[in-house]
Amino acid sequence: LFDFQGKRVTVAGLGVSGVPAAKVLHARGAIVTVVNDGDDARAREQAAELEALGITVRLGDGAALPEGTELIVTAPGWKPDKPLFLAAEKAGVPVWGDVELAWRLRGPEAAPWLAVTGTNGKTTTVQMLASILKAAGLRTAAVGNIGVSLLDAVLGEEHYDVLAVELSSYQLHWAPSLRAHSAAVLNLAPDHLDWHGSMEAYARDKGRIYGGNRVACVYNVEDKATEDLVREADVEEGCRAIGFTLGTPAPSQLGVVDGILVDRAFVGNRQKNAQELAEVSDVNPPAPHNIANALAAAALARAFGVPAQAVRDGLRSFRPDAHRIAHVADIDSVAYVDDSKATNTHAAEASLASYESIVWIAGGLAKGASFDELVAKSAKRLRGAVLLGADRALIRDALARHAPEVPVVDLDRTDTEAMLQAVREAKRLAQPGDTVLLAPACASMDMFTNYNQRGDAFAAAVRELEA
Ligand code: ADP
Repeated sequence: LFDFQGKRVTVAGLGVSGVPAAKVLHARGAIVTVVNDGDDARAREQAAELEALGITVRLGDGAALPEGTELIVTAPGWKPDKPLFLAAEKAGVPVWGDVELAWRLRGPEAAPWLAVTGTNGKTTTVQMLASILKAAGLRTAAVGNIGVSLLDAVLGEEHYDVLAVELSSYQLHWAPSLRAHSAAVLNLAPDHLDWHGSMEAYARDKGRIYGGNRVACVYNVEDKATEDLVREADVEEGCRAIGFTLGTPAPSQLGVVDGILVDRAFVGNRQKNAQELAEVSDVNPPAPHNIANALAAAALARAFGVPAQAVRDGLRSFRPDAHRIAHVADIDSVAYVDDSKATNTHAAEASLASYESIVWIAGGLAKGASFDELVAKSAKRLRGAVLLGADRALIRDALARHAPEVPVVDLDRTDTEAMLQAVREAKRLAQPGDTVLLAPACASMDMFTNYNQRGDAFAAAVRELEA
């Protein structure tokens, strides 16, 4: 166990991970200094709480490395090229994220970790996995980037048999010694490249999730980059590469045969070569990308020894979180669907592939993305498009290039009220049997606080149409 007694630890960033980290380190005898870029009311409140415990806090000063620092524990979102980290590298000071801290404090002792990452589908898959594990009678929780924080999960009172852990690429970047029981990379597409610096660096960080795996490295057969990461991973002896596919599975894979999810990887030795797990209709919603999520969750659960029946029960009782392909209403035979969580082009592509004839509401902050591939692949499904938000021109231009026949309404608005107009325009374009789909392919912060608020604005606008 790592001994923090008398160690000078700098915590980088207040907030959801920094405050609890500072408290835990302080309680273990470390001499803690918190540095924080911002100096707003919320930061002052948190600083006061920590200072009352005897922790030093420097507000508005996140750049300089405090004298004598022996370890930095950083909020996962802090960019690796910050001056603080460059100074740390020069001085040979290690940097841990919240996941590394939890792992070093009590990760392996608390429970085995079944870990999930990927550009899209992480939260859904981890929740499906937790639902399956619970159906098997195991004490578990969905933790990490969602729900319970990892620190609480490993240090809290609750006893867990196994943890379903969602990890972001940032968290993985700062978690060098994590070793999961088994892990899955769901898919890899360009995202957060401004943070990681390049696609290669992003993939490398995602690939860390496989490092030291003991039982199974789960990859996506339809996304070769994930398989490459398994090949490059340094795993424990005996650890298996397990693929999942929407097609017919080869041995050592899970897949789909005649509408049935089938396991050909964990089948025991009674000359049976496939185990039926569940029906496609047990997956909620049964859209292609979501069936892939279900297969990945099933693979991790099966790697942990969960019986087939529990996979089915767990998938049946799973309910998706808000703003993920959520059906809001049917009006005049047109379905209105909120996928506000489709914050990048890869997610929006999956979302658009789930419907046949779509009036697409899109736009927001593009985060440096290109929309050509998304629009080219989805063009034939589009009845029309309604664009709003800061970077809508990028989507408009891609539509002009790849789908010139699709009618486009460019709202030229970034105010919060614009969503109501967007929904009205979408209604005008839609014909019976169509789906009006909010799948922005962009982040929301140009117009909203977050994707939740954006999705709520959409749902409210739809309800106003209904009234
Ligand atoms: P994450 O936690 O990785 O952001 P979520 O489960 O919250 O993922 O899903 C986010 C969005 O990504 C969904 O609303 C949907 O549009 C899309 N999505 C979900 N699963 C997948 C997948 N396997 N492949 C591509 N897109 C997906």
